[in-house]
Amino acid sequence: MKITRKLIKANYQQVLFVFLAFLTMVLVSYFYVSTIVQRQMLALGEETMNTTQTAVSASLSETELTFSNVTQNIENMFAMDRNNDEILYYLTTTNNFFKTERSPLPDCLKVYGYVRGEFLDGSGWIPPDDYSPPERPWYIGAEQSGHAIFFSEPYIDADTGGMCISFSQQVFDQIGNALGIIAIDLNLTRITDYIAGQQIANDGYGVLVDDAMRFTSHRDFALITTDMRLAGGGYPELAEMLRTGRPIAAERFIDSDGTDSIAFFRTIFNGWHIGVIIPRASYYEQVYSLGIVLSILGSVLMLSLCYILVRTRADQLRSDEESKSKSSFLARMSHEMRTPMNAIIGMTSLAQKSNNIDKIQEYLGKTNDAANHLLGVINDVLDMSKIEAGKLELSNAAFPLQSLLSQVQTVVGFKIDEKKQHFTVSVADDVPNIIITDQQRLAQILTNLLSNANKFTPEGGDIALNVRKIEGDASQCVLQIEVADNGIGISKEQQARLFKSFEQADNSISRKYGGTGLGLAISKKIIDLMQGNAWIESELGAGARFIFTAAVGIGDVGDLPESSVLSGTGADESTPSAPIFAGKHALLAEDVEINREILIALLSDTGIVIDCAENGRQACEMFRSGADLYDLIFMDVHMPEVDGYEATRRIRAMSDVPKSKDIPIIAMTANVFKEDIDKCLAAGMNDHVGKPIELNNVLAKMKHYLLYQ
Ligand code: ADP
Repeated sequence: MKITRKLIKANYQQVLFVFLAFLTMVLVSYFYVSTIVQRQMLALGEETMNTTQTAVSASLSETELTFSNVTQNIENMFAMDRNNDEILYYLTTTNNFFKTERSPLPDCLKVYGYVRGEFLDGSGWIPPDDYSPPERPWYIGAEQSGHAIFFSEPYIDADTGGMCISFSQQVFDQIGNALGIIAIDLNLTRITDYIAGQQIANDGYGVLVDDAMRFTSHRDFALITTDMRLAGGGYPELAEMLRTGRPIAAERFIDSDGTDSIAFFRTIFNGWHIGVIIPRASYYEQVYSLGIVLSILGSVLMLSLCYILVRTRADQLRSDEESKSKSSFLARMSHEMRTPMNAIIGMTSLAQKSNNIDKIQEYLGKTNDAANHLLGVINDVLDMSKIEAGKLELSNAAFPLQSLLSQVQTVVGFKIDEKKQHFTVSVADDVPNIIITDQQRLAQILTNLLSNANKFTPEGGDIALNVRKIEGDASQCVLQIEVADNGIGISKEQQARLFKSFEQADNSISRKYGGTGLGLAISKKIIDLMQGNAWIESELGAGARFIFTAAVGIGDVGDLPESSVLSGTGADESTPSAPIFAGKHALLAEDVEINREILIALLSDTGIVIDCAENGRQACEMFRSGADLYDLIFMDVHMPEVDGYEATRRIRAMSDVPKSKDIPIIAMTANVFKEDIDKCLAAGMNDHVGKPIELNNVLAKMKHYLLYQ
C-alpha cells in the first residue's frame, strides 16, 4: 500500500507526460496519414470517373461517327440522283449489316428516315396509318439542329424494355436543299449497365444523367427517367451543382435512400453527366481502420512505456527500501557484535588485573556468555548468507522427540528460570516418539522461538510449548508446534514484516532487547524446507503465539543411529573427571598455536597424549615415521604448505603404512557448512567437528572412535 502510494506520487508526472506525448503522436500521425489516404481515395474516385467517361464517350463518339457515314452516303446518293427505292435499299442493307457480327454498331436497333416526304424504314417496319414522322421528336430535333446530329432524350424501348436513344440528322442535296432526315435508334443498355456497375474501393454504384437531368442509369430502377431534381436526398443540390458547372468530386451528400454518401460527377461531351456514388463509411473505411490501428498501437506503446517506467521506479524504490533495511541491519549487526566483544575484552582485562580467584571465575563466566552470544550472532549471519545463496539443506535422521525437547529446554531453561517464568511443555498423545527430520534445525527453530518468548515476556510470565499432530499416516505426519507467551505482543502491521530478512518488528525493540532480526527469517526458511507453514497470532500487549507446521517422517528404535550422542551437541555429555583416554595417542595438525593450546588444555584431563604438527606436510611426515603410535588424527583444513584435505589424501595413500587406511581422521575446522563437511569426508576424513570447539562434541566423537570402535 505504502509502496503503491509512493509509486503513484513518484510517477504521475512521467506517466502524464508519456500519455500526452503518445496522444500527440497518435493524433499527428492520424492527421497526416488520413490526409494521405483521403487523397488516395480522391485519386481513386477521379480515376474511376476518367475511365467511365472515356469508355462512355468513346462508345457514343463511335456511334456518332458511324451515323455520320450513313448520312454522308445518302447525301452522295442524292448527288447521283438516286430515288427513294434505292435509298430504302441502302438503308435496309445498312440496317442488316449493323445486325451482323462485324457490325461497327452492335447496339443499333434500326436505321430509318423520312426522305422527300416518304417514311423509309431499314428494318421493314410498316408504320400505322396515323404515324406522322414530322411530329416525332427525332424529326423535330434534327430539323432544329441544322447540320448537327441531334441526340434524343433517352427513352424506354417498348420492344426491349431497355434504355434507348435516337440519333438523327438532316440530309441535304448538293445545292443545300433539305431533302429529309435520317435516324438510328441505339440500345443504351450496355452503357447503362457498365455505368451502373462502377464502384470505388469495391463499393457504391454509377449513374448516368442526360442533359435534361433525368436518370438514364441508376441502380434503383424506379428512378430511371426521373428528374434528378425530384429524386430524394441530396440529389437536388447535386443537380444544381451540375447545372451551374461546379465540380463534384468527393462531395458529401445524402443518397435518396438516406445513406450518408460521397459523390463524384463528370459532364461528358454531349451534355450528359456520369456519376459514381459510394457510402461514406466505405469511402472512409481505410481512414477509420487506420485511426483504430493507430490508437491501439499508441495505447499499447503508451501502456508498455508506463509499465516499464513504473516497474523501474518500483524496483528502484524496492532496492532503496532494501538497502535502507540492509544498512540499518548492518548498524544493528555492528551493535550486536560489538556489545559481546566489549564484554569479552572488558571482562578479560578485568580478570588479568584481579588476584581474587572468585572474581576471576565470575569475569570468565561472563566472558564465556558473551562469546557464546557472539557465536550465536555469527551463526545467524552465516545461516542467513547460506539461505540467501540457496544452500541451506536439511540432513534428516531419526531421533526421539523427547531428546529434542530436553536439548531445547537445556539451552533456554536457565534463561527462563532467571526471569522466573512458568514454562510448560505439552505433547499430544498421538505424536510419534521417534521422528525423522533435521534435529539441529528443528532445535534451532524452537530455541529461537523460546528465546524470543523469554526475551519479550516480563518476569513471572507464562511460556508454553505445545506439540500436536494434525495429519499423517504410518510413515509420516505433519506436526503443529506452538510457542505461546503472555508478553508484550506484536501489532498486526509489524507481524507482516517479521518473517522477512533483516526486519525487526520495530527498530526501537532492538535497542531495548537486542537481537539481529534474523531469527524468525531463518526459522521461516527452515520451515519452508520442512514443507510447513508459519504464522503469528498476536495483539500488542496481549502476548504472542508463534505456530508452525512441519512434515516429518515417523521412525522406530531401529532407525536411531548407533550412538545418538554423535548427532547431538553432546548436551548430555559432561566433562570427564577421569582420564578415559589414558594410553591413547593423537596427532593434531593445526597451524594456529592458540588453537593447539586450547585443544591440548581442554583434553588434558582425559589422559590422551597429543603430538602437534604445524602444517599438513609435517603431519604426513610424523604419521609416516610414527604411525604405530597414533590412534587418532585431528586435522585442521586451512594450513600452509599442505592443507588438511591434501594431507588426508596423502596419508590414505601411504600403502606401505599399515594403519594409513584405518586411522580415524577428524576434521577440526571453522568451515561448518554441509558442503564443507562433505568435502572433508570426500578427502578421506571420517568425521568433522566445528570451531569454536565444543568440548562435549569433541568428547563424543573421540569416545566413538577410540572406545566404541
Ligand atoms: P531477534 O534476533 O531480533 O529476536 P527474530 O527474528 O527472532 O530476531 O525476531 C524479530 C522480532 O520479532 C523481534 O525483534 C521482536 O520485535 C519480534 N518478536 C519475536 N518474538 C516475539 C514475541 N514472542 N513477542 C513479541 N515480539 C516478538
